[in-house]
Amino acid sequence: MPALQSWGRYPRADHTRVVPVVWRSEPPRLSELPETVLPFACGRSYGDSCLNAGGALLDVSRLNRFMAFDEARGVLRCEAGVTLAEILAVVVPRGWFVPVLPGTKWVSVGGAIANDIHGKNHHRAGTFGAHIACFELLRSTGERILCSPERNAELFCATIGGLGLTGLILWAELRLKRVQGAQISMERIRFSSLDEFLQLSTDDQEYEYTVAWIDCLARGKSLGRGLFLRGDHAAGASRLHHDQGPAISVPLDLPSGLINRATTTLFNTMYYRTQLRTNQRRTLHYEPFFFPLDGIGAWNRLYGQKGFVQYQCVTSGDSAAAIAELLDQVARSSETPALAVLKRFGRIPSPGLLSFPRPGITLAIHFAMRGSTTLALLDRLDQIVAGAGGAIYPAKDARMSGANFRRFFPHWELFAAQIDPKFSSSFWRRVTTA
Ligand SMILES: Cc1cc2nc3c(=O)[nH]c(=O)nc-3n(C[C@H](O)[C@H](O)[C@H](O)COP(=O)(O)OP(=O)(O)OC[C@H]3O[C@@H](n4cnc5c(N)ncnc54)[C@H](O)[C@@H]3O)c2cc1C
Repeated sequence: MPALQSWGRYPRADHTRVVPVVWRSEPPRLSELPETVLPFACGRSYGDSCLNAGGALLDVSRLNRFMAFDEARGVLRCEAGVTLAEILAVVVPRGWFVPVLPGTKWVSVGGAIANDIHGKNHHRAGTFGAHIACFELLRSTGERILCSPERNAELFCATIGGLGLTGLILWAELRLKRVQGAQISMERIRFSSLDEFLQLSTDDQEYEYTVAWIDCLARGKSLGRGLFLRGDHAAGASRLHHDQGPAISVPLDLPSGLINRATTTLFNTMYYRTQLRTNQRRTLHYEPFFFPLDGIGAWNRLYGQKGFVQYQCVTSGDSAAAIAELLDQVARSSETPALAVLKRFGRIPSPGLLSFPRPGITLAIHFAMRGSTTLALLDRLDQIVAGAGGAIYPAKDARMSGANFRRFFPHWELFAAQIDPKFSSSFWRRVTTA
C-alpha cells in the first residue's frame, strides 16, 4: 500500500503505522498504542495538517456508512468517513444539497468539520461547521462524547476547525439545503482590475455562489485581471446524472519542471483571452461548476515528485490593497504560481475556535515546490498578510512560522486546552514548538 500523503505531497512524512478504523461500535483502543495518533480521511489537505510524522494515522476511510436520513427535514446522520461525493449522490435526487462545498467532492465529513471548510457561498452560508447539529467524539480514554452547541459546547467549538486534535469524530449530523434539481445557472464575467473585482463582489448577496479566477502573473495595468463566476441553483426539473469519475487521469509523476513560468503564463493569458465576450451565461450540472479539478484524476502528480504548496490567506476588511501587494510580489518573483482564486468572505461568524474564515478577501495560489526560493517568497507574503490583519489557512499550509500561527489564531491556547493528549500532528508540533 502506498504511504499516505497530503495532497500537495510536500512535506513527506513517515508514519509508524496506519490503523484502520472500521466499526464505530468497536474502534481501536487508542490508549494501548505506544505513539501519538491523528485521524486521516481522504488526504485532500495540502500540507502537513493531516500528517503525523513519527506517529500513527487512524485511517477512517472505511467508517463510511449512512445512519439516518430525515427526508422531510433534510437532516442526515452519517459516519465521519462518508465523502461529500457519496452524500450528494444520495441526497440530490431527493431534492437536498450539501450546504457548503469545497473545490473537490472527495472530502470526508470528518475532514470537512476538522478544517471547518468554506465554499463559494461563504457570504450566505458561513462555514461547514455552521450546519453541523451534533457529532460523537471518541477520546483516547475510550470515552464517547456527544457534542452540539448545547451539549459539551466547548469541545464542539474546539473540534470544528480543530485539525483532528481533539479526538476521533465517529459520526456527525448535518443539516442539508433544499434544491429543485442538479443544475446551476452560472454567469461568467471578465474583469480587468482588482477594483472591478471589488465592485462585482459587492453584489455577492444577490447570488448564492461567487468566486473569481485571477491571472496571478499579470502585472502593471493588467494586475488583478480575471474571470468572476456567480451562480444559483436553477429552478425546475433538471438533469440529475453526471458522468461519474474523472475524464482523464494522470497515471504517473510528471517531471517537476513541466509546470513552469512559461507554461503557466501562456495558460493564464490564453484562458483570460478565450473569454471573448465580457459576459457569458449558461446552465450546467453542479459537478463541473463546483469541482472543475475533479475532472482530472490525480492532478497533483502534474507537479512531479517535489510536490507543490497552496498558499491561501485572508486579508481583513474591504480593501484590496494587501491583495494587490501580494499579487505584485508573486508576479515579480521567479516562482511558478498557478491556479489563483479570489473570493470575498462574508460576515457570518465561524463556529470553531480555530476556524480560518473571517470577513475579508481570501486569495489562494498554487506554487510548484522549488525549495528555499519558494519558501522565501511565501515568508514575504506572510509579512503582508500579517500587516493586513489576516491569516493563513492551516488546511493548505506546510510552512508558516509558529509566531505567525499564534498571531493569526489568537484563541490557540484556549483550543490547546481541549486537545486529546494522545493526538498530535506534524502541523501542530511545527507551529507550537517553533
Ligand atoms: C482540489 C481541492 C479543492 C479544495 N477546495 C477547498 C475549498 O474550496 N474550501 C476549503 O475550505 N477547503 C478546500 N480544500 C481543502 C479540503 O477541503 C480540506 O483539506 C478538507 O479538510 C479535506 O478533507 P479530507 O477528508 O481529505 O481530510 P484529511 O485531509 O485526510 O484530514 C484533514 C483534517 O481532518 C482531520 N480528520 C479527518 N477525519 C477525521 C475524523 N473522523 N475525526 C477527527 N478529525 C478528522 C485530520 O486529522 C486532519 O486534521 C480543497 C482541497 C482540494 C484538494
